[in-house]
Amino acid sequence: MTGRAVLVTGASRGIGRAVATLFAQHGDRVAVHHRDSADLAGELVASLPGAGHIVVRADLADPEQVRAAVDGAAEQLGGLDVLVNNAGVYTPHGIFDTSYEQWQHEWRRTLDTNLVGAANAIWCAARHMRERGGRIVNVSSRGAFRGEPGQPAYGASKAGLNALGQSLAVALAPYGIAVATVAPGFVATDMTNEHLKPPRGDEIRAQSPFGRVARPEEIAEAVFWLASPGAEWASGTIVDLNGASYLRS
Ligand code: NAD
Repeated sequence: MTGRAVLVTGASRGIGRAVATLFAQHGDRVAVHHRDSADLAGELVASLPGAGHIVVRADLADPEQVRAAVDGAAEQLGGLDVLVNNAGVYTPHGIFDTSYEQWQHEWRRTLDTNLVGAANAIWCAARHMRERGGRIVNVSSRGAFRGEPGQPAYGASKAGLNALGQSLAVALAPYGIAVATVAPGFVATDMTNEHLKPPRGDEIRAQSPFGRVARPEEIAEAVFWLASPGAEWASGTIVDLNGASYLRS
């Protein structure tokens, strides 16, 4: 078998798809994780360059499904070298727009997926990396640092993910496992389709002096580097990928 064994969560579309594609283009074997997009995930695996790619399924909010997916990926790929915690949910839940019951639902679902799901995936993956070392990259968001008035649980989940990555970077360094985080601003994916329509989309694009939002492939480049053998010293970092946005007053 050639290349590294890589598990990318939420890889059927968007940023995860670009990440999975980039690893495969570099000769790695990729486990394409999805929750309810078997067709898309299967098509992606069939179209990736190289051989040995697989599909794994899990609802990341369910700890047992996470364990089955990570262990299953490691078993089929012959171990695990890289975990990319990319999957996430981002749904509106403004404080005065949401009933108390909906509020509970959004907080649970968002934290269970974006934060606890990622933590559980790391718990499982670390056991496969303990003897051989590895790389873990978490996909956070600018929402961790800046106000997300309509998505407070999202911002909190991503801030938690940042802290999780830093704690585990320290805990896992003695095992040769580096943990790093990327925190993109807006990226053109299905998640942001609605936000990027005018007029709000024009305001968002104007935040960067490049006058646009990121492409998924640009986030994938950073993830790929942070997961590379030479990036051990980047462990514990949070890479702010925002196209020079927010630098002007
Ligand atoms: P996307 O909606 O296309 O991808 C998210 C993926 O996560 C989907 O495939 C979805 O099925 C999966 N997912 C969601 N909940 C899941 C669950 N419970 N179990 C399993 N899979 C689940 O959006 P994207 O923009 O590609 O987002 C990828 C990551 O990047 C997310 O963590 C997101 O928060 C983060 N991010 C996105 C942007 C952006 O502007 N698009 C900005 C910053 C950070």
